[in-house]
Amino acid sequence: MSQIREEVLTANAKYAASFGDKGKLPMPPGRHFAVLTCMDARLDPAKYAGLAEGDAHVIRNAGGRASDDAIRSLVISYKLLGTREWFVIHHTDCGMETFTDDIMRGLLASSLKTATVDASGWHDSGQGPGSTEGNYIDWLTIADNPKSVVEDVRRIKRHPLVPADIPVYGYIYDCKTGKLVEVPEATSAGKAG
Ligand SMILES: [Zn+2]
Repeated sequence: MSQIREEVLTANAKYAASFGDKGKLPMPPGRHFAVLTCMDARLDPAKYAGLAEGDAHVIRNAGGRASDDAIRSLVISYKLLGTREWFVIHHTDCGMETFTDDIMRGLLASSLKTATVDASGWHDSGQGPGSTEGNYIDWLTIADNPKSVVEDVRRIKRHPLVPADIPVYGYIYDCKTGKLVEVPEATSAGKAG
């Protein structure tokens, strides 16, 4: 077994040993809210937003972007599981700011190996084969962080399947301090109607 796999299973055994009455938690989030945030390994929504098991939905993807699939989850979150307030939380130093669709497509067309990055940008080993399938994916990269939060909040609010009375708040998590910094334009765009 890989070392990581062993570590995960050991950690899980420890967790399950003190699981207590968490097995009795209901499915709907007890605190009736959802968070859409980035998958970045430095972000731990349970810690930065004070969540315990059963509290809230956390939807994560690269960038914390309001992709069709993130919206699918949010719609299920309110329609079937009763959340009433949503947060969109991007963060400083996001990897999604370091490339564009063209760069990602070029790297993937060159090879499927892990790329490297330095001051001059992303580089591929070129040890193909690569694939042009990347050309068909919108990678939802970020050029301007506050602007991307505003865009995502706006997209969610304007979505025909999202009811007007759900407020959506926009924040940027600061990786240097652990603080959530509001993007006022996003929160204002996300006001419940
Ligand atoms: Zn990120």
